[in-house]
Amino acid sequence: MGESDLIQNIRALPKIDLHRHLEGAVRLETLIEIAQDYGIEMPEYDVETLRPFVQMMPDETHNYQHFLGKFSTLRQFFRSPDIIRRVTREAVADAAADNILYLELRFTPPALSNIIRCSYEEVIGWVCDAAAEAARDHAITVRLIVSMNRHESVQNGEKVLQAALACHTRGVVALDLAGNESQYPAQPFYPLFERAKAAGLFITIHAGEWAGAEGVREALTCLHADRIGHGVRSIEDPELVAELAEHGTALEICPSSNYDSGVVTDWLRHPLAPLYRQGVKITINTDDPVISAITLSDELMRVITRLSLGLEDVKQAVLNAAGAAFLPPAERETLVAAFKARLAVP
Ligand SMILES: [Zn+2]
Repeated sequence: MGESDLIQNIRALPKIDLHRHLEGAVRLETLIEIAQDYGIEMPEYDVETLRPFVQMMPDETHNYQHFLGKFSTLRQFFRSPDIIRRVTREAVADAAADNILYLELRFTPPALSNIIRCSYEEVIGWVCDAAAEAARDHAITVRLIVSMNRHESVQNGEKVLQAALACHTRGVVALDLAGNESQYPAQPFYPLFERAKAAGLFITIHAGEWAGAEGVREALTCLHADRIGHGVRSIEDPELVAELAEHGTALEICPSSNYDSGVVTDWLRHPLAPLYRQGVKITINTDDPVISAITLSDELMRVITRLSLGLEDVKQAVLNAAGAAFLPPAERETLVAAFKARLAVP
């Protein structure tokens, strides 16, 4: 199959994204409009002027400092409830346009309410309502994950948790720990994740990305993680890889993000394929479409053309994602059955 046939094929596949940040899924054109409407100073109001501030450029050093820097810029654009609703609706519409049928969209309430100065519960409510409306309009199922950053205070995390729990019946299904893993320990956040678990939220933890395999162990044993965000550095610990495979723990792998943030410096050495071949349930996700300038179809394409997996392997990864969805067991089984049929996977 030629490359153009392959990309058509991949675009047509029904897909699932389990790891996508709303703040990293905004349209460049929308950001320009916001900048003009709210008088955010820019030398020129065009996409190419804005691009290097919010997107990783080929000639810049790929490291997590630069990668996180893009988020700092993006935070400056969330200036009104209408903007929050709009970017949520557009993020859902863009996923649906890429034939994503099931999306778990995550967001960080402090990032979205940085300028508006509203409560976390209000901001989560706006995202819930807009996501539900867009899901109906575009025939896509959307569930929401609330994130807190480990480089922000645990007191802040406490408020995020309370707000997430208050919105549990409105589409919020899980709690996530994100942020600077290499310099900020997760330990202060243990009690919050204990409570989230007890209250019935699913848990995913960014780990084994900017720090080593020990972070993945900690996420599983101390933070009650149901899935691991990234987890690619699990490959450094063969015993852990065997345990992940044995327990069927899904890794939310985001290959381009790993490359852009400097976790992986050479595409050929990305751990996705070796983890998959050792039986780990890998899933393929985007993380931040605007920062990496990608769609999920692009990610699946790169996994095939750069990481030596085949189309059937990619379909298996989509099916793995269905099996790892943060849904009640009966709904998850329905999702898996639907994807098995549509992907024609035995
Ligand atoms: Zn992430």
